[in-house]
Amino acid sequence: MTSNGHDDDLLRTCTRVCHGRAGAGLQIASIHWDGQQPLMRWRTVRRWPRRPSAAQALRARRQALDDRRFFRHCPRCGKRHALGHMMDSQPGSWCQGCAQQEGVVF
Ligand SMILES: [Zn+2]
Repeated sequence: MTSNGHDDDLLRTCTRVCHGRAGAGLQIASIHWDGQQPLMRWRTVRRWPRRPSAAQALRARRQALDDRRFFRHCPRCGKRHALGHMMDSQPGSWCQGCAQQEGVVF
């Protein structure tokens, strides 16, 4: 599996593993916009009956980055972004950073 610093940032900011008495859960943040203000909403996408090992948790978080409900690759810069940071949810859509570089105004 390939990895790079950009994906690691995404992993850190948009995925997490929570644990409590009922077990553990893998959560992914989706980004929503309240005007110019980004809002993170965490959704549990996977549960474990017991707390996973650090390696298991990391593997699950990496797999979560492949979930197209939450993350997409931008065809212009080739980087993966949270869906909320794409222009829209259509396939082939650019990320907001690329759109801004091309002069698209939000
Ligand atoms: Zn891009």
